[in-house]
Amino acid sequence: MSTVAELWALQTTDLAVEAVRQRLTELEKQLGERAELTAARAATAEAQTELESGRAAQQKLDRQVKDLAAQVRAAERDLMSGRVRNPRELESMEANVAALRRRRSTLEGEALEAMLELDRCEAQLAARQSQQASAEATHQARQEAIKREAGQRLAELKTLSARLSQQWEATPPADRDLYKSLRSRKGGRAVAREQGGACQACGLMLATGVAQAVRVGGQRVFCPGCGRLLLAG
Ligand SMILES: [Zn+2]
Repeated sequence: MSTVAELWALQTTDLAVEAVRQRLTELEKQLGERAELTAARAATAEAQTELESGRAAQQKLDRQVKDLAAQVRAAERDLMSGRVRNPRELESMEANVAALRRRRSTLEGEALEAMLELDRCEAQLAARQSQQASAEATHQARQEAIKREAGQRLAELKTLSARLSQQWEATPPADRDLYKSLRSRKGGRAVAREQGGACQACGLMLATGVAQAVRVGGQRVFCPGCGRLLLAG
């Protein structure tokens, strides 16, 4: 028959194995975690698209301004050429030149706005690229830290598993059954400590006789509150 202290030691290793396994599962999840990185990349791509469409709009306006400037010059030349002498026709040509100039001036204003918008897009892209670079660096550092810790935890798991199987081998079959049955019914903890006359697992104050029996040892005492095997101290 195992002593309660031996079963407590078995439980301690068992819980440690469980905790390391859980940590490894968490680390595995974190290793695939790239939401921030994906968001940063998407933000850069969006800024890039905005910049390209801003650039296209600005180039289109530039071409329109140039075309219109050429039209204005042609109309001015025609007006000055002396080809037309009819006052009414001249008046209509002058009106046409004036209209073309107004249109050119409006377009120049729009081209200037497009240029300013382009500057804003360029600044935005630069800011997002820098945010992305920082997100990439943070991500990489985090991934490396996760991999490092996972390596350490795996080594720890190997040691703990070896210890657990040694302890398990040393436990008589009847005690294994008792331990397994209590563990599965009592949230993974078959053995509880008794301290100051109370069960440390469920908090029940034990009757004096029960607490004494635990401290004296020799017989197995189960907590009347939670049913766990009690270990003194
Ligand atoms: Zn208890």
